Amino acid sequence: MVLLSGPNIKGNEWKYVKDCLDTGWVSSVGSYVTDFEKQISKYVGSKYAIATSSGTTALHLSLLLSEVKNNDLVLVTNVTFIATLNAIKYVGASPILIDIDENSWQIDLDLLANFLDSKTEIRDDVCVLKSTGQRIKAIVPVHVLGNMCDMNKLVSICKKYNISIVEDAAESLGSSFDGKHSGTFGELGCFSFNGNKIITSGGGGMIVTDNEELAIRAKHLSTQAKADNFEYFHDTIGYNYRLTNVAAAIGLAQLEQLDNFIQKKHFVKDFYIDSLNGFGDIKFQTVEKNVNSNWWLFTIKTKNQKNLLKSLNENKLQSRPFWIPMNKLPMFKNELYISVEDISDKVYNNSLSIPCSTNISEKELSMVVDCIKKQF
Ligand SMILES: *Cc1c(COP(=O)(O)O)cnc(C)c1O
Repeated sequence: MVLLSGPNIKGNEWKYVKDCLDTGWVSSVGSYVTDFEKQISKYVGSKYAIATSSGTTALHLSLLLSEVKNNDLVLVTNVTFIATLNAIKYVGASPILIDIDENSWQIDLDLLANFLDSKTEIRDDVCVLKSTGQRIKAIVPVHVLGNMCDMNKLVSICKKYNISIVEDAAESLGSSFDGKHSGTFGELGCFSFNGNKIITSGGGGMIVTDNEELAIRAKHLSTQAKADNFEYFHDTIGYNYRLTNVAAAIGLAQLEQLDNFIQKKHFVKDFYIDSLNGFGDIKFQTVEKNVNSNWWLFTIKTKNQKNLLKSLNENKLQSRPFWIPMNKLPMFKNELYISVEDISDKVYNNSLSIPCSTNISEKELSMVVDCIKKQF
């Protein structure tokens, strides 16, 4: 089986994990956790990084820290992995779903700006939805497939409406806009190290921020809000969301290979584009000129999606459709969905992600290309 986007374990993972096991530092205290945090913050250029048990828990804590409260609204792209929306619900808020751009598949910023201009107003420094009076405290831009939208434009829209930015950078470690890393444009940014991401720790996540107070509170909340070194005194409701040392050991070893992994993702992207450009009706995700994408998950658009998915998977070339748009899921079908042409649905019905692991061979890439070409 050629995996869609599998882990690539060939660096210091064994050595670092062995060190954890040999020394007994296996749980949520240990030097690999703090080293991993240091190296991530150094890599992305943030002042602080706080390791969490997953990308989902990183998002949950970040929304708590952004003071998103019960009955608030949070702006978010309609095309994302379910975790983004779940985290919004965990804090009692509801999403306002924004349709995506037809070419980059990121949040449609014109649609967002139009919506804010026409349907919201500022009351006591807070953006509120005129029709219900609900607060719009935050936006969670998702860097879909490692790509990014025009972050200058996004940041200036959010400034105008006093909306905090919590970046869902789960897929975009290593991507940047104008040389600035994904995850560092908002108050808080969240990464994931799940098994299919560009680097993995088995499972894990990271919050990055430049705000010292938020960093301290993120760590506090992730460790059961224990407020005394000796006594079990906890000063608020906390969570058991800290990354373990064993997971961090794997993550740190993976991070050492990130630049090579990104190079390989670019090689895979170039290979597919060179081989499939102009073939049938195949189209690729577009990337704005200021964006340097990590090309995490290679995805093509074609009317032939269903046949391609069937034949690739029959040939053990693991391929998947895009996520079902959030407004189509039972939990979110009644949420506000801001759209003119329902681009989400068009992209969903016409696209598929094809094998692009960082250890895929050229022979395997050719097998994928041949299998696709046979279907036209
Ligand atoms: C993977 C992912 C997450 C969740 O990360 P986990 O570590 O699996 O909890 C959140 N958002 C997006 C966009 C993702 O791709």
